[in-house]
Amino acid sequence: MQKSKNNSNLIWFRNDLRTIDNAVLHESQKNGNPLIAVYCFNPLHFTIDKFGFNKTEKFRAKFLIESVRDLKRQLNNLNIDLLVFHQEPEAVFPELCKTYNVNSIFIQTEWTSEEIEVEHAVKSKLDSINWHKIYNQFLYHPEDLNFEITHTPQVFTNFRKQLEKHVAIRPELQPKTYPESNRITNITKIPTLEDLGFDDFETHPHSAFPFKGGETEANKRLEDYFFNTKKLGFYKKTRNGLVGTDYSSKFSPWLANGCISAKTIYWQVKKFEKEFFKNQSTYWLIFELIWRDYFKYVSLRYGNQIFKLEGILQKDYDWSSNQTQIQNWINGETESEFVNANMIELKETGWMSNRGRQNVASYFAKALELDWRIGAAYFESLLIDYDVHSNYGNWMYVAGVGNDPRDRKFNVELQAERYDANRKFRSLWLQPTLF
Ligand code: FAD
Repeated sequence: MQKSKNNSNLIWFRNDLRTIDNAVLHESQKNGNPLIAVYCFNPLHFTIDKFGFNKTEKFRAKFLIESVRDLKRQLNNLNIDLLVFHQEPEAVFPELCKTYNVNSIFIQTEWTSEEIEVEHAVKSKLDSINWHKIYNQFLYHPEDLNFEITHTPQVFTNFRKQLEKHVAIRPELQPKTYPESNRITNITKIPTLEDLGFDDFETHPHSAFPFKGGETEANKRLEDYFFNTKKLGFYKKTRNGLVGTDYSSKFSPWLANGCISAKTIYWQVKKFEKEFFKNQSTYWLIFELIWRDYFKYVSLRYGNQIFKLEGILQKDYDWSSNQTQIQNWINGETESEFVNANMIELKETGWMSNRGRQNVASYFAKALELDWRIGAAYFESLLIDYDVHSNYGNWMYVAGVGNDPRDRKFNVELQAERYDANRKFRSLWLQPTLF
């Protein structure tokens, strides 16, 4: 690595693995200083959690590697080097900042406890660095709201209506290309799945999410779902589906890793509406992205309360942690075939539809009355699209300790009849596999 005499900026990528519409990248490019980029595969994310699950299972690990690989390529095109480490950030940053004379670090604003702890660990090792934290994961920017975050409406519909009426979506941001002189010698390597402790594996042939990680793949999927096939125009009718790649957008894993921004999706919906047609389906995709924002605002407002058993409603239910029931749920061996099929799909692929998630979570928390945090931790481990706010927000909601004013319980058998009348989904996952 070469030493730098000039002051440099450093962009620390975490869940914002993209170059297009990345407000952190945009900010880090403003003063024209040389820029280096860093990503750390933090060993902490590959440990065992308090319930005994791998914090990150192989599906998300693979998607993450693919996403970082693509980010490196995209940054290369801008003459920015991405240095990749398989180490704790606090072990890497002091030396890096010295070598490259870094005086400003740019990061996406995160506010959940684990992310903040890592930031503090890095900060404690560095003196006299200017930190720039930038909101970068919202559709509606927190600084544009017409209410205080502490007054985020308790009910989704009120939240949505306020935003739709009063707040404009900001335009997309484009990255700048640096001169060749910004390049450094980069000998760092992206870890393999094996380096992260997993055997390599093939995607299950029945997977509803056979896609790869990265900005390029995210944009390809958008192009396909919106413009090539116009499936966006039917989204509202198909979004409760269970089988195949196209019943819903499948954007969530890319959104969770920040390979694409919610704003980019929003502006592409607008483009589609202008070029082709506007209908309930085109609106509904934006409606769902507002749900995503909503859970982020709920978590901003309530902080660590979203990880607590009593949730944000402070409800005092009796919860069980019966190990046999938990294990049966995980293995798809409960009394409900519909729950089982969904849980097997998750175990085999790291994916489950929204309809499936609502049902298995309700079954776990409301029928078996099991400690919902254990179900949420299992989802965190397995889901390719794990997102702290959406996961814990949805789990609280379903468990009756979140934002749902109605304390509902799904009838999973009726749901199966309604959404899997021909048993296609259950047959797909309950039959012994031929593979
Ligand atoms: P589409 O139907 O195409 O929707 C487009 C986008 O809108 C999604 O990509 C997502 O960003 C957003 N969206 C849709 N539904 C929701 C919702 N209920 N809450 C928040 N955002 C939503 N989603 C995650 O991204 N990560 C999670 O960890 C996660 N955990 C969940 C846990 C439970 C118990 C439940 C019930 C839902 C969870 N969801 C989570 C929300 C939802 O199931 C997924 O976002 C959705 O299934 C992803 O598929 P899609 O991208 O094809 O969605």
